[in-house]
Amino acid sequence: VKNARGDDVEAAGVVDVGTADDEERWLRCASCRERLAAERARISVNGSHEHEFMNPSGQRFVVLCVATAPGCITEGAPSTVWSWFPARAWRVALCSTCGSHVGWSFESADAPPFYALIREGLR
Ligand SMILES: [Zn+2]
Repeated sequence: VKNARGDDVEAAGVVDVGTADDEERWLRCASCRERLAAERARISVNGSHEHEFMNPSGQRFVVLCVATAPGCITEGAPSTVWSWFPARAWRVALCSTCGSHVGWSFESADAPPFYALIREGLR
């Protein structure tokens, strides 16, 4: 009986820790809290994970680079106009659940695509 009680306590503790970890491992949409990209997908591009850019309208964005963003869908045809990363074409990336604009994907013919997610749009 003592052993069984000990096992129960231990198992409950493991489950709690696992749930907490899981909550922290995702960059989430600020609007609907959908999981956009895993924390472990964070990458450095051109020497930095975080970049600050201005678009042609003068709007400033701070973006975080991630290798994959399964919670995002891309919209439109890729464009190289005013691309923040030379030699890469961008597409608008939207939250797959609520449709919020959460960033951009950057693709090229000779390298895997990555995503740059707007820091303000994340939780
Ligand atoms: Zn969303």
